[in-house]
Amino acid sequence: MNKNNETEESLSVVIPVYNEALSLPLLHKSLCIALGGLSIPWEVIFVDDGSQDNSIEILGDLTATDPDHTSLVVLRRNFGQTAAITAGIDHAMGNIIVLMDADMQNDPADIPLMLEKIHQGYDVVSGWRKNRQEKYLTRVFPSQVANKLISWITGVELHDYGCTLKAYRREVITGFRLYGEMHRFIPAFAGSVGARITEVEVCHHSRKFGETKYGLERTFKVILDLFTVKFLIGYADKPMRVFGGMGLLLIFASAVVILYLMVRRLFFLVSVFTSPMLTLSVMFMIMGFQSILMGLIAELLARTYHESQHKPTYTVREVLNMLPLEMRDLHIVNPSQSKLPPCSEIEKG
Ligand code: UDP
Ligand code: MG
Repeated sequence: MNKNNETEESLSVVIPVYNEALSLPLLHKSLCIALGGLSIPWEVIFVDDGSQDNSIEILGDLTATDPDHTSLVVLRRNFGQTAAITAGIDHAMGNIIVLMDADMQNDPADIPLMLEKIHQGYDVVSGWRKNRQEKYLTRVFPSQVANKLISWITGVELHDYGCTLKAYRREVITGFRLYGEMHRFIPAFAGSVGARITEVEVCHHSRKFGETKYGLERTFKVILDLFTVKFLIGYADKPMRVFGGMGLLLIFASAVVILYLMVRRLFFLVSVFTSPMLTLSVMFMIMGFQSILMGLIAELLARTYHESQHKPTYTVREVLNMLPLEMRDLHIVNPSQSKLPPCSEIEKG
């Protein structure tokens, strides 16, 4: 599995920062300790997401004192964690990207172990806060439910989607854009392009500096986002399956109701106009046809999406021995070294 040459690898740690002035100096120090011994080049990219405290000044100082390893991207206003992460990834140079929070709840000391897993051939290494240091009822329990739900619906089983500390091979996360608050679904998107995914247990600390930016309402947002993610992952290239499926279901329901009304009229002499069921079946029929027509429009949109960007409908892990046709006859591979018999013998036999 160890197909990548370690020396060609490089690491970018992307950290979104929103009002985290208190934790930043310690965070930078622990990053330097954790990454200082690495044998590959590394950088830390802080993204200031419109902080109103003095995070920018502190980040400016850190960048000035450690220009070899630290960069800073300052957003014009608060765009949210997902947008900040995307900005960081867009500016990152490394072919391995580690995402983490700035609040010191994650521990940079876990990064080398994650890199080890990447070297073993995994494309995504997901941090799992097994001993999570937060309130059970408002944080840990909603997160456990969300993780089960996300794993079940997306088919990418992880214990901790909510843990930002994760390592990615660049190529499995740069093929899609993240909208809204979709950063927690990155492993699911990566899984949909065929990434090899594993988990490692990581340390987790209670928040000692600053305060959390999220409340319980996040659970509802996550559930709504899950619909979008399921659609994008499963049906973005075949939307007719969803719209058309729904359409057929509605038309079938309409037909059942009409049949029931007809049977009632013929055998029990009950007029079809006495109940609202006729209206119901007509409504189902119209909605069914509308849904199928929407499916057709969605199919057109899917084609525009892929073809306008020359975006293939597949992803390639690697390509072996692709040669121009004219070079095929030059016998570049010495047949005597091949364990297989020459093609001419196979044809004869
Ligand atoms: N964050 C951000 N923009 C925001 C909200 C949060 O960049 O609008 C950053 C924040 O500074 C932290 C990370 O996202 O580095 C996670 O935020 P937080 O610790 O509040 O989330 P929690 O750990 O409570 O889920
Ligand atoms: Mg936090």
